[in-house]
Order: sequence, then C-alpha cells, then structure tokens
Amino acid sequence: MWFFTDEEKELQRVCGDFAQNELAPFAEKHDTEESFNIDAFKKMGELGILGITASPDFGGAGMGCLAATIVMEEFGKACASSTLSYLAHSILAINNIENNASKEQKEKYLPKLISGEHIGCMGMSEPEYGSDALGIQTKAENKGDHYLINGAKMWITNAQYADIAYVYTRTGKNKKDLSTFLLEKDKGHFKFGKPIHKMGMRASPTGELVFDNANVPLENRVGEEGQSTYHMMKNLDIERITISGISVGIAKACLDQCVKYANERKQFGKTIGSFQMIQKMIAEMAAEVDMMRSFLYQAAYEYDQGNHGPVLAAKVKLAIPKMATKIALDAIQVHGGYGYSREFPLERMMRDNKLMEIGAGTNEIMILIIAKNLLAITE
Ligand SMILES: Cc1cc2nc3c(=O)[nH]c(=O)nc-3n(C[C@H](O)[C@H](O)[C@H](O)COP(=O)(O)OP(=O)(O)OC[C@H]3O[C@@H](n4cnc5c(N)ncnc54)[C@H](O)[C@@H]3O)c2cc1C
Repeated sequence: MWFFTDEEKELQRVCGDFAQNELAPFAEKHDTEESFNIDAFKKMGELGILGITASPDFGGAGMGCLAATIVMEEFGKACASSTLSYLAHSILAINNIENNASKEQKEKYLPKLISGEHIGCMGMSEPEYGSDALGIQTKAENKGDHYLINGAKMWITNAQYADIAYVYTRTGKNKKDLSTFLLEKDKGHFKFGKPIHKMGMRASPTGELVFDNANVPLENRVGEEGQSTYHMMKNLDIERITISGISVGIAKACLDQCVKYANERKQFGKTIGSFQMIQKMIAEMAAEVDMMRSFLYQAAYEYDQGNHGPVLAAKVKLAIPKMATKIALDAIQVHGGYGYSREFPLERMMRDNKLMEIGAGTNEIMILIIAKNLLAITE
C-alpha cells in the first residue's frame, strides 16, 4: 500500500519470507494431521512479532493495528490456521494484557508470552453463550483474599497449549458485571477440557477450558471488579480488523494460484485462461482483492489514529471474509476437479476462510452493529 512506512514495508517483506519458508511448506501436513506447527510458533518469537502491539518495555515491537494486519495477511497467504493461533496469542492475549493489565502484571506475564516461551489464549465464549457474550456464566466469587472460579469456556483457540489464559467471568448480577482474570495453567487455575475437531483451521488447536473451584489470588484480576465489558468490546475492534487480514491473505493466494493455473491448464487445445468465463472469474477476483486490501488497511490506519469504533471494524469484518469465501469458491471452480481435490490448497483455503464469517463475531452480529448505528436503533 502506498501509505505503508518503510518499517511496515520491511515487516511485510520479512513476514512474507517467513511465511513462505516456515508456514507454507507444512500447511497441508498440519491440516491433514490436525496438528499445531509449534516449531513455527517458537520461531515467531525469535522473529520478534509475537508482541507486535506490545510495548518494547516488555519485549514487544511497539507497533499498531496496521502492522499486525500486515503480519496476518502475509501469514494468511501461507497457512491461515497457524495465523489464527498467532492472532489468538498476539491480539487476544497479549494485546489485551498490554492495554488493560497493571504494570506488575505486564512485567510478570508479557516477557515470556512475547518470547514464545509461554502460549496465550483468550476465553470469552461459553457452551451456551457465543454471540450473546455479555450473558457469560463462568462465575468468579470474591472470597475476600481470593476468588473461586467455576464454569467453562468453549471454542478457545490455543486452549490445548495455553500456559496463560485471559478469561472473562461474571462477578455480579447485572449483565455488565464482568471481570477479567489472568489464569495460569501451572497453578491449576484452569484445565483443558476436550479438543474440538473442525472443518477448517485444523492446524489451529481449539478446545474447552474448565474451571473447577479454581482458587485464584486477587492479584490475578485485571482492572477493577465488574469493569471488563469496556475492555472486551474495545479489543473486539482490533480483533475484527486483524482477523480480516487473514481473509485478504487467503484471497490473494487464491488469485495467484488461479493466474498460474489458467496459463498452464489446457482444454480444447487452448489454455483455460483464454476462455472468457474463466477470465471473468479471475478479473473479478483481482478487482475484489484490491478493494479488500484498500478497505482493510484504511481501517487499520484509522484504528491506529484512534478513530476506531465498533462500526468500522464490523464493516471490515462483514465485507472482507464474505468476499474471500466467494473468491475461494471461484478459485476452486477455475481449477475444476483439481480444485475440489486435496492436490491443491484451494479447498483448505475455502474451509479455513469460512471461520472468518463466524469467529470474532458472526456476519449476522456484524450486520446488527452496522444497522443499529445506521438506523439509530437504541435497544
Ligand atoms: C475455530 C474457532 C475459534 C474460536 N476461538 C475463540 C477464542 O479463542 N476465544 C473465544 O472466546 N471464542 C472463540 N470462538 C468463538 C466464536 O467467537 C463464536 O463461535 C462466535 O462468536 C459465535 O458464537 P456461537 O458459535 O455460540 O454461535 P451462536 O451465537 O449460537 O449463533 C448461532 C447463529 O445464530 C446467529 N445469531 C445469534 N444471535 C443473533 C441475533 N441477535 N440476530 C441474528 N442472528 C443471530 C449467529 O449469527 C449464528 O448464525 C471461536 C470459534 C471458532 C469456531
């Protein structure tokens, strides 16, 4: 993009190279085996990008939403599911700690998360509460000198591997009485429940977290008791913009693969790229990828300028993943039977991208946010 700084262009180049060397060659294997590319994750720590938005005081890169989105796009081209795990660690865990935790908590948790020694996750969703996030029931009871936490979290990215979990709980009767805790696996604050097997994003571990009378010190609470709704809503904006970067990466990878294939594959004695119906699909993809990238990076730029509100993030998250699913389906069509087969990565990209229409808030929830704002609906 024309407005990337030299530092952002360098980040794009370095992350693009890393993704092609460390993620792309192993994407199919980890998708098939439903396994996590932990070697690549550790190398991301060495690359210095796990704490992309965290302060250099704690080992972070001190960059912003735009930089994080660049990483998501570059990694998303190569292996969307490894990128989802990166996002859960860097944006859902680390960015939340950076913005909401105390200095002491940052000193305690951030360095090991940023180096990759520890893996982080964020627990908001529950078995009975997904879109209705303010309804969560995991309860933290204040016992004076500690909290007792009971309940379960569902769909948690990195749950199997997480050392540290940033978890939202209910601490009062009102809908917005939510409090956050930094929970440590080796202190027995949470247990891993069961893995969730998925149609896509299979190299990104997903599972349940269980809290069974977890005895958690007061010092593990993030911020004041009952004040976490604002934190939760605020982090969703950067999550929705950055996750859309994965969709742009997928869409660009689909386009590149189609251009290559259309010039190679012959039918009726001609390359399929000479057929106008194939040209139409590829030309539309090219226009859409440019449009997606412009909108995405404009929104990421606005976010870094402090102009972030839920509506812009919801527009990005509604428009981009949907368009990427269409592009992935067209890319399969351009490849005919080979596109439907596992010989090409397109069916994986389509399966992976579908998650972006569900995770971090579904398409329908994005529509509600945009429509409520446009139509000035208040309830
Ligand atoms: C692979 C994966 C990784 C995830 N990672 C995490 C994670 O790390 N941490 C975390 O906390 N969560 C995570 N999630 C959870 C994710 O955020 C939720 O799945 C999502 O918010 C939707 O909630 P739900 O699945 O309970 O669907 P539901 O809320 O039950 O929705 C079901 C359907 O009803 C629709 N719907 C719901 N409410 C309305 C309404 N008011 N109007 C119209 N339609 C509506 C929805 O759009 C959807 O189509 C992950 C999910 C997946 C699949």
